[in-house]
Amino acid sequence: MRNKIVAANWKMNLNLAEGKQLVEGILAGLPALEVHKHVVIASSFVHIAQTAAQLAGKSNIHTGAQNCSTETSGAYTGEVSAAMLKDAGVSYVIIGHSERREYFNETNAMLAKKVNQALANGLHILFCCGEALEVRDAGTQNAHVEQQIKEGIFHLSAEQMKDITIAYEPIWAIGTGRTATSAQAQEIHAHIRSVVAAQYGADVANNVPILYGGSCKPSNAAELFACPDVDGGLIGGASLKADEFLGIIEAMK
Ligand code: PEP
Repeated sequence: MRNKIVAANWKMNLNLAEGKQLVEGILAGLPALEVHKHVVIASSFVHIAQTAAQLAGKSNIHTGAQNCSTETSGAYTGEVSAAMLKDAGVSYVIIGHSERREYFNETNAMLAKKVNQALANGLHILFCCGEALEVRDAGTQNAHVEQQIKEGIFHLSAEQMKDITIAYEPIWAIGTGRTATSAQAQEIHAHIRSVVAAQYGADVANNVPILYGGSCKPSNAAELFACPDVDGGLIGGASLKADEFLGIIEAMK
């Protein structure tokens, strides 16, 4: 059975005290997570040491990061390496979020380098893909995400794919309050799985978790997560409040 994952993406929010309180709130209400169910808290770099200390020794709830460098070490002012993240207690890193692609000009080639850095340092990857509204309106979303996935991760071996989780996040649904319908999510998740199967075979494809992200909240999570190819969620706005995030975790059946 493949893993189910609910991951928080705090983006550029919360000071240290607020982050600490939020993790305390999540831990206080966290249900017992069965062996194949995982929660990830991807905070800003500044929060990582604190979050890792709060989560130390807890099962199935992991410290995450929202980005890592394409480079190993050296004169890259402002960058944070995958090795530094690992050392600070991170086990999952988000790579290819649409905000990184759009505002920081991250290309598929750069993302492939980040993927390599993360894997070389023993990190699991939440690899994001997703289309803008114009692409959805043109009906070419399947080809769009296929290209993002092929260029970002298809250089990996089948063995390395064990550390990959794909997050499908339609840009038109991120932070907009407009969610993909469960039928739209299922259709494109199934397509993503078929693309992975064509490259790596059915075993690898059946074991890759594919998360949905985009205005996911307690009121719509259960319906989205009930889709056969939706294996949990990457959560932005609703991950900043313990009760909402816990409501979404509860929906991970
Ligand atoms: C995200 O940015 O990863 C995200 C899913 O945001 P939101 O839940 O706020 O739409």
